[in-house]
Amino acid sequence: MLRQVAEGVLAHESEFIQSNTVVVQGRAGVLLIDPGITRDEMADLANNLRELGQPVVAGFSTHPHWDHLLWHATFGEAPRYGTARCAADIRAFLSGANWKDDIAEELPPEIEVPLELLGLITGLPAEATQVPWDGPRVRIIEHQGHAQGHAALLIEESRVLVAGDMLSDVLIPMLDVSAADPIEDYLAALRLLGGVADDVDVFVPGHGSIGGTDQLRARIELDRAYVQGLHDGGVPGDPRIGPSARPGWEWVSDVHDGQAQHLAQRSERDVTPG
Ligand SMILES: [Zn+2]
Repeated sequence: MLRQVAEGVLAHESEFIQSNTVVVQGRAGVLLIDPGITRDEMADLANNLRELGQPVVAGFSTHPHWDHLLWHATFGEAPRYGTARCAADIRAFLSGANWKDDIAEELPPEIEVPLELLGLITGLPAEATQVPWDGPRVRIIEHQGHAQGHAALLIEESRVLVAGDMLSDVLIPMLDVSAADPIEDYLAALRLLGGVADDVDVFVPGHGSIGGTDQLRARIELDRAYVQGLHDGGVPGDPRIGPSARPGWEWVSDVHDGQAQHLAQRSERDVTPG
């Protein structure tokens, strides 16, 4: 079901880890951001949009992770954009022989996801500052936190921030541990989002609950404290992990343990001579 989050902006929450799709109304149709997860959800969304007389005229993927790169044939053949780095990253991923198996491993068996149109992204020029489409101005805020070429989008007129995989109330910050300095990349991204907070009334995280201005600042601080804590070797009292995690989301603690371990091993390697 589509829910209005601001004038001209709608959102749909998936049954798969509270993934949010955002629909922005333009002059002749909609911009679809992170189009969705299951085959049925996307078919429903396409139907709803058809009933509203709003064809999909453009798509956008916030970052090169499979759950943000899906598409359904009934959305049609609109151009699908991402940052240049996002497009390059997904091209590399799709050139691997076993990418479908890699995704299947992450999926519970009851979730049916169409993979046939995954990742067919046109990379925007590196200097692009907005999504090229016939609708309200959508500013691209690119950073390297969470994934290479990650873009948050600011729908300026309606003051909606589409955060991609940051600022979640259910998922901890997930670092791109393959990067040279994942901690600093993440903190820099949070500073960028903090820098536009005054221009935002509503934000939509890639996974989790949509929030207003106060929650935006609180979640930036929660993410910053987590990342800083990870850097310092501990994360006390994050409500998304440990005993205070929401029922059903305890697995996030395992993600935390994996990240903490990975970073600890890295810093050991860094101080080992030779
Ligand atoms: Zn992601």
